[in-house]
This record gives sequence, C-alpha cells and structure tokens, in this order.
Amino acid sequence: MLNRLDSKHPNCPKHDTYMVPYPFDADIQLPNGVEVLRCPNLSCSILYAAGALEGFYTRNSRGELTPI
Ligand SMILES: [Zn+2]
Repeated sequence: MLNRLDSKHPNCPKHDTYMVPYPFDADIQLPNGVEVLRCPNLSCSILYAAGALEGFYTRNSRGELTPI
C-alpha cells in the first residue's frame, strides 16, 4: 500500500478520498500541462486541476471549470 504524500494527487476536501484522473472533454481548452482529477465518489462534483490552474473546481452548466 502506497503511503506517500503526493501533491499532484490531493484528497477531495469534502470526502477526504484520493482523487483520480478525470477524462476532461476535448472541447474544453485547458492550458498546456494542466491535469484534471476528480473525486472517486460519483455523486461528487469537485475537481482538482494541477499545473497552471492549480486548485479545486466544479464545472458550470457550460462545462467550464469554476473555482470553489
Ligand atoms: Zn468528493
């Protein structure tokens, strides 16, 4: 079992669970090098962006990342 702290894979602030890669829609433009992660809880809308956009987000009705 891995037990290291990896800042690129933070925990969901709501569920305290390890976030997983999110297959972000190709129609939404993200800056180079930005990786998006999501909470493994399917009912959870919280996303995390690494890189230039680092922080927690949700998606609005147009699918855009909205900081929380
Ligand atoms: Zn969550």
